[in-house]
Amino acid sequence: MIGFLDLKALNQQYREELIQVVTDVIDSGWYIQGSQLAEFEKEFAAYCGTKHCIGVANGLDALTLVLRAWKELGKLKEGDEVIVPANTYIASILAITENRLKPVLVEPDEQTYNLCPTKTSAAITANTKAVLAVHLYGQLAPMPELMALADQHDLLVLEDSAQAHGAAINGKKAGNWGHASGFSFYPGKNLGALGDAGAVTTNDDELATTIRALGNYGSHKKYENLYQGVNSRLDEMQAAMLRVKLQHLDTETQRRKEIALAYAKGITHPELSQPITAHSTLTSLENHVFHLYVVRTAEREALQAHLANTGVQTLIHYPTPPHQQQAYAQWNEKTYPLTEVIHQQVLSLPISPVMTDDKVDAVIAACNSFEMP
Ligand SMILES: *Cc1c(COP(=O)(O)O)cnc(C)c1O
Repeated sequence: MIGFLDLKALNQQYREELIQVVTDVIDSGWYIQGSQLAEFEKEFAAYCGTKHCIGVANGLDALTLVLRAWKELGKLKEGDEVIVPANTYIASILAITENRLKPVLVEPDEQTYNLCPTKTSAAITANTKAVLAVHLYGQLAPMPELMALADQHDLLVLEDSAQAHGAAINGKKAGNWGHASGFSFYPGKNLGALGDAGAVTTNDDELATTIRALGNYGSHKKYENLYQGVNSRLDEMQAAMLRVKLQHLDTETQRRKEIALAYAKGITHPELSQPITAHSTLTSLENHVFHLYVVRTAEREALQAHLANTGVQTLIHYPTPPHQQQAYAQWNEKTYPLTEVIHQQVLSLPISPVMTDDKVDAVIAACNSFEMP
């Protein structure tokens, strides 16, 4: 059986190092807001190339707190429109509605599954105040074009970098393109904690200070509360383990790219569309870190069954688009044809830094032996 993602094997690579740092935290007697978090924040900001990194409890909180901070700073107000891809993971949209802002769902680019500058531009109204650019599956959205558009219309840009740690365009990484960015370190993400964790990155001093306060009960100074904040913190255990794993992130990403390249070359089935990267060829991959390797076919259910029969576990990211979820019943009557087709056709093949070449070859062979029903 070729599992989709073997988290156990992935973390066992660093078992000794992880045990050491966890032991250090236990023995330190300091478990929240300590030196591990401070060091991780410095190291992750340096990795992304940003001035600030603020650790928070998870990726959803990271996105929610950025929008909340912009409201506190008077840059957004309830009802403002935020453009977001219709095919994103629901957390991007939850962050918008939690703040009583109005998500404006926009169909993605058909090839990259990310926001397309033309369709984004067409969705801008007098009420549009922000764009939530999601780097879906690990590929950077077209940030140079989206930032130019935002400048032109005076829009804030929030990146959802939950799937794209380290992806770059012209050397500039995810997290350093927008006015702020939210990261998730959920265990299955490219940089994964051994529990929940997340972070905001930004170059904006005022925003960074506000987010720190909001995530700490709205307090900027002990027992003084500026805002009606929340408790959203990245604890010392997770920060210490993330520091270990950050050192190996680029090596792991390299392995993901090798596997992606092997899939792209090896899978020759004419009915399986391969991921298409917008800014580079697969040999000079910079803009895609392959959090997921997503193929597309009109016969997705049959392909998934065939792969399961040959021992290959696959997943669907995602089976139901946000506008068809019960949580957003008010949108259920709307149609986003491209988004709906994508959700009906995509299939994620196994990809992980600990996958062996034998398994990669077996996945390729299994895909190529698929017979269309
Ligand atoms: C995982 C994910 C999130 C949410 O992160 P959590 O840490 O699980 O809260 C948000 N957006 C996208 C695109 C994600 O993949």
